[in-house]
Amino acid sequence: MRSEAVPPPGVDFSQSGPAIRNALCSFSWSPQFVNPRFHDDQIIHVDQKTWYKATRNPNTKVIVYQCKWDTQGSPCRRWIEGGVREIRTHLRIYHGVQGQAKDPIRCKWFGCSDERDFKYSSIPRHIVTHLKVTLLCSNCRTQFPRDDRIQFHRRIARKCARANTVTVVGPEARLIRLDS
Ligand SMILES: [Zn+2]
Ligand SMILES: [Zn+2]
Ligand SMILES: [Zn+2]
Repeated sequence: MRSEAVPPPGVDFSQSGPAIRNALCSFSWSPQFVNPRFHDDQIIHVDQKTWYKATRNPNTKVIVYQCKWDTQGSPCRRWIEGGVREIRTHLRIYHGVQGQAKDPIRCKWFGCSDERDFKYSSIPRHIVTHLKVTLLCSNCRTQFPRDDRIQFHRRIARKCARANTVTVVGPEARLIRLDS
């Protein structure tokens, strides 16, 4: 069922960037979406590469999360993919976060309670935890919050050495659907 594209209060749709319609489809593997109806057919703004990925092949399932990095007092609100590489690129292009691997970076995600500095190289992994993306070991079904943790698990747990990593999307994930 279609609903009117009513933006949540405070969302600025005048932000530049490719516009895309998204829909919360029925993900059998992530039933914990919040109020899916509300987000139906919302027009969202995504990064250029995400837009390319979604438009190149309409069958690709592109999953995005709303960025809540602080930009002068309000969250960014652009929709980003949940991978470490995509997060790093987004932080560099839209929030000027760059540096050497060991440079200290403070997390500016809204609601982040981490008061310490992160290494530049590890901030994207930390953001993944804000998106609540988890990684599941296909063998023992244990979930891990970060890719380095599951890699460590597979090194120490013999029986899981050849297991696959299954990405479990976070509760606020949205699936992009192209406007037709
Ligand atoms: Zn952002
Ligand atoms: Zn944080
Ligand atoms: Zn395992």
